[in-house]
Amino acid sequence: MSKKLFIETFGCAMNTRDSEHMIAELNKEEPYELTMDASQADLILVNTCSVREKPVQKLFSELGQYKKQKKEGAKIGVTGCTASHLGAQIIQKAPYVDFVLGARNVSKLAHALHTPKAVEIDIDYDESQYAFGEYRSNPLKAYINISIGCDKQCTFCIVPHTRGDEISIPQELILREAQRAVDSGAKELFLLGQNVNNYGRRFSDNSQKSSFTQLLREVSRIDGVERIRFTSPHPLHMDDAFLEEFASNDKICKSMHMPLQSGSTAILHAMKRGYTQEWFLNRAKKLRQMVPNVHISTDIIVAFPGESLEDFEATLDVMREVQFEQIFSFKYSPRPHTAAIHLPNAIEEAEASRRLTQLQALNDELLDTLAAKRVGNRERVLFEELKSDGYVQGRADSNMLIKVKGSEELLGTLRDVEITQAGRVGNVAKLL
Ligand code: SF4
Repeated sequence: MSKKLFIETFGCAMNTRDSEHMIAELNKEEPYELTMDASQADLILVNTCSVREKPVQKLFSELGQYKKQKKEGAKIGVTGCTASHLGAQIIQKAPYVDFVLGARNVSKLAHALHTPKAVEIDIDYDESQYAFGEYRSNPLKAYINISIGCDKQCTFCIVPHTRGDEISIPQELILREAQRAVDSGAKELFLLGQNVNNYGRRFSDNSQKSSFTQLLREVSRIDGVERIRFTSPHPLHMDDAFLEEFASNDKICKSMHMPLQSGSTAILHAMKRGYTQEWFLNRAKKLRQMVPNVHISTDIIVAFPGESLEDFEATLDVMREVQFEQIFSFKYSPRPHTAAIHLPNAIEEAEASRRLTQLQALNDELLDTLAAKRVGNRERVLFEELKSDGYVQGRADSNMLIKVKGSEELLGTLRDVEITQAGRVGNVAKLL
């Protein structure tokens, strides 16, 4: 009987890939079968996120639930970014946790599993050249790490403290992994890093310096690659060569995540984002000129310490100017080990909520305007999911969610469609 694994993954795509790596590492020792029922599991892994306080608070109530559910002899491991910054405190607070494995120590899973109360959270540990086993949760879409860690010091962000300094993964390892993924049926390659367009500045071996633009070109030359996506690029590194390659390379999906964070140059400065409102608008305008049908998504934080009403208005102005197709918006969440936690002029909770509500209302308004113009547009969709309502759903080149009437033979196919109904998030279309 193979052992059973229950794994819960919180947070970003990098965490999803870490969870896939953990499953592959376990399978190197002995086969594990995935279960959705924690009470059946021999091993329960909670892969955590620390980007905001709420998920950290939720962690201990979650662990309490697993303690109650787990079967005799089963183990509980806490992994990911909260593991990195809380470390042994997790076991002190929840003594039934068997081990703690930090975000940058995934390759040590087998060791942690067999070492009672192991705490492996070294954020300088270098896995950039480690050959993880093969496991993919989605056979059609392959997540591929191109770097680990982050060299930026955005003052609100805990990631550099949980994932360490930035190291690029050697290009030949990335190309080999990409070829293996395509050979095993992946239609879409999703390149991952905290700052993908900062790729190639530092390797831990004597690899030659390179650039993300070059890497994109090389990946797109792999035989059988249909689509390339990537996250997350930094607006600071969106130089003309990068935008040129993005616009001219037809393997690269025309959706760009451009994390703005704030539309106020003063707040961007306090966040240490390294760019101004003007630079961001310049890049977004250039991108829309070069790729008229591009979809731009973004991240925005409201109520950063010291954010005046004028600063907030500047963020709304950028939204009206760029007309983002998708916005992930949050209230500022003070994070330990970050510079912003010591900044004066915190914004009251009620005012922070008021600003977030106002921003999201404007976003809905802008999305409705964009949706109204979308009906009749033609898109190319990779169908990935059979829905219970007789529809099959997938993502367009622009990353929009689109569903059509159909059945399972559409799964895994790339098809042209025409949008018949458009919404803020999802769209309905007909096959062409
Ligand atoms: S670029 Fe900034 S926001 Fe992004 S992971 Fe690095 S420090 Fe965090």
